Order: sequence, then structure tokens, then C-alpha cells
Amino acid sequence: MNAEDQHLSTSLYQKFPIKIDRGKGVRVWDTSGKEYIDCMGGYGVALVGHCNPRVVEAIKNQAEKLIVCHMSFYNDARENFIRRIAAIAPRGLSKIFFSNSGAEAVEAALKFSRRFTGKPGIISMSGGYHGKTFGALSATYNEKYRKPFMPLLDNVKFLPYTTTRIDDSINDNVGAVIVEPIQGETGIILPPDGLLQNMREVCTRRGIVLIFDEIQSGLGRTGKMWAGENWKITPDVMCLAKGLAGGVPIGLTLTRPEIVEALRVGEHSSTFGGNPLACAAGTATIDSLNNDNLVENATEVGSYFKAGLLKLKEKHRIVRDVRGLGMMLALELRFDVRNLLLDGMRHGLLMLYSGKNILRLLPPLVMDKETISEALEIMDELISEEEKRRVV
Ligand SMILES: *Cc1c(COP(=O)(O)O)cnc(C)c1O
Repeated sequence: MNAEDQHLSTSLYQKFPIKIDRGKGVRVWDTSGKEYIDCMGGYGVALVGHCNPRVVEAIKNQAEKLIVCHMSFYNDARENFIRRIAAIAPRGLSKIFFSNSGAEAVEAALKFSRRFTGKPGIISMSGGYHGKTFGALSATYNEKYRKPFMPLLDNVKFLPYTTTRIDDSINDNVGAVIVEPIQGETGIILPPDGLLQNMREVCTRRGIVLIFDEIQSGLGRTGKMWAGENWKITPDVMCLAKGLAGGVPIGLTLTRPEIVEALRVGEHSSTFGGNPLACAAGTATIDSLNNDNLVENATEVGSYFKAGLLKLKEKHRIVRDVRGLGMMLALELRFDVRNLLLDGMRHGLLMLYSGKNILRLLPPLVMDKETISEALEIMDELISEEEKRRVV
């Protein structure tokens, strides 16, 4: 028996019978040598491609120099990374807190906001996903994740992501509003016109901290460095993780200075935070985004991909919707997409589930049009087969 199945709880992750051995750019290979186009991208973590050469080189060099350095000391690898982040951070978000995952980045955002405003109320959105630690889970909408662990944080209220005015739903107890500028996990859902603008206006007027969870949508994924730029909105706090360090675990919480400065020494910390290896990989990741023009590429190849998906929608009645921006795309079907997902693997294409009916596509930003054409051909074939099965 495989040691993973023997010693990991098989109840926690749905597993596919594929052992991934290596990756390069937009492709991965399994131990039998079979090749896959990766439109799953490790849930968006393979942002700058598998084994991005800049990242590999940076990790090798840093590994020979220093791997451990606690935040209580200064370090060059960390300083270099901080400079890169500061150069791309939205205006005003000049302070950085280091952690190791998305949920941790959200935890920090929630704690900083509580400390700054002194108010426990949190507004989150229906369909919002922010992670699965207790605090982040409290702001996550899906009942399947939340219900078994009640009671969670009190005072979290979910507003419909279709609303465009939040003012009337907010009482004086609310200290933070948390939102994904584009919802990922729920199926690549864009906010309605005016929602983010209204949030910004209300939060500024009432002294509430506006938190953008850009863990999935940030760093060029949507064709802009930050998804919030698509609506020209800057938050007070921003959470990052996923592909930020080329695949090495990392989380960051960017904040306006006055918010994090409400905390005293020891009130929040992370042992691994600011780890030199993750920082070196992060520097290489941002260099790749900037110098390899990956944000522009996300726009160009992303719109090529989306145009192809829209053609599939015209051709196949079982395709209900195509949506998304840049390299953050979704194809919604009239049926469960499980067959498509599994057949995709057999045909050498990795994709993601997003709810029952939705295929989510988060390819690396180094993606090219030829590979997308290949992926679209495979998808066309998969959907045709599925159509034959469904339409009798
Ligand atoms: C993935 C994700 C998280 C959680 O990140 P983890 O590293 O799994 O804790 C939070 N928010 C969003 C929007 C995400 O996509």
C-alpha cells in the first residue's frame, strides 16, 4: 500500500491516482512519464510556472548561504524581498507582516483590524473563501466547511456578493470588511458594478478596515498586478500567499502603517515568518513577474483562452457560462464536471473543480497560446464526449 494512503487520513483530501514526479513551466509529468498541461497550477500556486529558472537559482543560492533567520534579526534576503514588495504594493500599504500561508495572512488581517478599531464585527461576502483556520473559517461562507466547527467567531455577518450598497447592513460594532475582489474557490465570480467602490466609500467614511483577500487573484493573475486595480480600488489591508514565493510556502499581510502599529511587541508573530529561503524565492518570483512580462502575458494569453472557451460555449449546449479575467477563468456546465475532470487527466489536462458544475482554470502566467490551443482541443473533445453521454 502507498505510504500516503496508509499514514495520511484519506478522509481529508480527495485523491487522484496520479503520482506527480516533476514539472517545467506549464507542464508536469507523472512517474510513468505521462505529460500533463497544468491548468490547475497547484490551486494557483504555480503562478510563475513549475520550477521557474529564476526561482530555482535563487533557492539554490540561498540554501547554501542561510536557511534560518528569525524575524528578531535583520537579513539581506528578506530586505531584498521587502524592497520588491514595497515597489509593487498598492499606495499606502507600506507595512508588511510575514507568515506562511493564506489562512495565516487572513488571521493577521483580522487581528490587526480588531486591535486597530477595537470592534469585533466582521462583514464578509456570501461565497467568500478565506481559509480554514478558526478565524479565517469564521469569514468563509461555505457551510460545509463552517458548520461542523461551530461556534466560530461571533459577529460575522455575510452580505450577498450581489449587493451594491453595504451601508445599511453595517452596525457600529463592525471593524472590518473582508472581500475577495474576484471570488476564486466559489467559481470565479466577479463583483457587481459598484460593490467595491461602495465598500471603499463606506469603510473610509465610517472608519472600518477594508481587507482585500488577493491570495488567489493577486500578483498578475487577472492581468493587473492586483485584482482591485480592475475597479481602481485600494484596500487598507491586503492578504497574499499562494504563488508569491514560486511555490515555497509564504503568506503576507500588507497594511496601512497605523493599523499594524496598534499592536505591541509579542501580540502577533510567526516563527517561520520572513524565512530567508522563502524570501529569496519571493524576490525571484517578483523579478519573473516584472522582467518576463508575465502580467501582460496573463492579459494576452488569458483573453485568447477566454475567447476559445466562449467558442466552446457557442458549440456545446451543456456549457452554461464562461467568465473571469486574465488567467483566472471558469467554465460553468449544466452538469457535474467530475467526469470532465477525470477524463481531462486521462487526456493529459489538469483542471480544478469549483463547486459541482464549475471548472476553474488557473494556469501558470508563463502560459503560451499554442499550449492553450492544445488544452482547448482537449476540452472540446471532453465536452463532446460528455454531451453524448448526457443527451440521449
Ligand atoms: C487559497 C486561499 C486562501 C487560503 O490559503 P491557504 O494557504 O490554503 O491557507 C484564502 N483565501 C483565498 C482567496 C484563497 O484562494
